[in-house]
Amino acid sequence: MNRRRRILLGILMFSSLVLIGLKQQGSLAAVSRFGQSLNISSNLTNIQKHKPRVGIQVGHYKAIEHPEELKNIRYSTGAQVGRIKEVDINIAVAKMLRDMLEARGIIVDILPATVPKNYQADVFISIHADASIDKNRRGYKSAYFSPSRNDYDQLLKEKIDESYFYFMGLPDDDENVSGAMLEYYSFNSKRFKHSISAKTAGIIVEMGYISNKLDLQLIKDPVNPAYALKVGIIKFLKAQNLLD
Ligand SMILES: [Zn+2]
Repeated sequence: MNRRRRILLGILMFSSLVLIGLKQQGSLAAVSRFGQSLNISSNLTNIQKHKPRVGIQVGHYKAIEHPEELKNIRYSTGAQVGRIKEVDINIAVAKMLRDMLEARGIIVDILPATVPKNYQADVFISIHADASIDKNRRGYKSAYFSPSRNDYDQLLKEKIDESYFYFMGLPDDDENVSGAMLEYYSFNSKRFKHSISAKTAGIIVEMGYISNKLDLQLIKDPVNPAYALKVGIIKFLKAQNLLD
């Protein structure tokens, strides 16, 4: 054996010992040695994992931009009492709710009064506030499309209602749920192209009356209603195994 061959053999033996050593040190050594490639594969797993998506519709926002099929409601600009506008409260709550959901790793779309054609998400919530000539009328109400479009709308309503009543303490105004709520245009995929998919769980909420002092006090700070809605949405996503 000449000198070069001996050196080569030495290198081979050393490499084998290193490899054996790695094996014997077990997975920890392997993780630190091949950490980079392991990270890449775990990132791929994260990308493939489904992230929940929530669409938040700001009631009446940019109603004037409704397409031809919804031209009859282009002037449905929302309630107004003095200088208080429903749409401003809807915007503030929607943005706060978006921030809270995004902090939980949820993808959020803020949508105007016109939703994209056949919009799909795990949850769709349309945010509104009501007004009445009866200044004493107050309370919260919600609705999903009737006739029922899927198996999830009802569960979404249950989770959000439960959370909203618990955190906000508003009375139940269910007796004033209107036909316009039960046949809300954004849920009506049979009639309108700009509507949510029948598979997307969706409800419309009326957070309270801006014409009532007590209700207005409770909903004008967006943190309160946004938090109550967030908890309900999270509970729904967990019940559907869409969130850990
Ligand atoms: Zn409204």
